[in-house]
Amino acid sequence: MSTAVLEPPPTEGKPLTTGRQPAGIIVALWAFVTIPFLALLAAVPVMWGWGLSWVDVVIFVVFYSIGAAGIGTGFHRYFTHGSFKAKRWLRITLAVAGSLAIEGAVTQWVADHRRHHQFSDMEGDPHSPWRYGESFWGLTKGLWYSHTGWLFHDDPTPPARYAPDMTADPAMRAISAAFPALCALSLALPFGAGWLIGGTWRAALAALLWAGLARVTVLQHVTWSVNSLCHVFGSRPFATRRYDRATNLWPLALVSFGESWHNMHHSDPACARHGAEPGQIDISAAVIRLFERLGWATGVHWPVPARLAARRNPGRDQPQPALQPGGRRTERAVIPGRRLPRLPVSSDRLA
Ligand SMILES: [Zn+2]
Ligand SMILES: [Zn+2]
Repeated sequence: MSTAVLEPPPTEGKPLTTGRQPAGIIVALWAFVTIPFLALLAAVPVMWGWGLSWVDVVIFVVFYSIGAAGIGTGFHRYFTHGSFKAKRWLRITLAVAGSLAIEGAVTQWVADHRRHHQFSDMEGDPHSPWRYGESFWGLTKGLWYSHTGWLFHDDPTPPARYAPDMTADPAMRAISAAFPALCALSLALPFGAGWLIGGTWRAALAALLWAGLARVTVLQHVTWSVNSLCHVFGSRPFATRRYDRATNLWPLALVSFGESWHNMHHSDPACARHGAEPGQIDISAAVIRLFERLGWATGVHWPVPARLAARRNPGRDQPQPALQPGGRRTERAVIPGRRLPRLPVSSDRLA
């Protein structure tokens, strides 16, 4: 299928911030976003033997992997960015697998994410953590907004505009329409697995609780952390578009199936491998490699060393190159009276 078909360059948008957050607040913000995870982990030993067993752990890992691959390989790298071509049955399978993560219908997910790339950390970005500025409270509020709050905000992203390739496909429309049923299925399947393996109501309910509800919660927060943490914390080894603050955040690499190599991804959005440097774990890329070897995926956009080298960030404190006259409106919009962000410019837009 074709890759993204996009609107003309944006006519809205201006940078949301102009500099760096105060260093002293980082520890407090980390606590704010990691305490829920730690609480969930702390519940495991408490529940072990009463409502949690190895069977629940195995069912958890299986369904987590289906959802995480459905999101990372399917919704993100395949549907949003067209980083490979898939056989028809695989296209449908990836749409269903991603839907089981309960992060929204596939057409809407793709539309939201393409808009995020079009306006990264500028006005128009549906979930920038820099939305409320760079003060302590501004960034705290922005992290919350980019993590979860934006889902409740009345700022619709029309799929017909941002994902016309998706809305033109009857199968994608049907899978999107079936999203509520797929959510129910995502909980019913672990319940059923617990029942079949454990043979009791208690085993079925434990599987529903851990491999169903807890698994959905963990994966949702991992995905949302890419939206929030991976635009604030971490390294920026590759050049991105102006104002775009996407970062690589290694602690999330394993659980996000490679999605937290987000700086590399924003630098080269159509690339099938986000963890492109030696030693960077990227399970979604491994899944794509497997699909390719099996003959299910073709035309994979693997990293090109020369292209990577050309994008390597010369250093975020390098002076900002001057803009060319007649540049895009988004690139000449600045907040009056404040200094320009010292981030490298790349001419890329959404691939
Ligand atoms: Zn991003
Ligand atoms: Zn993306």
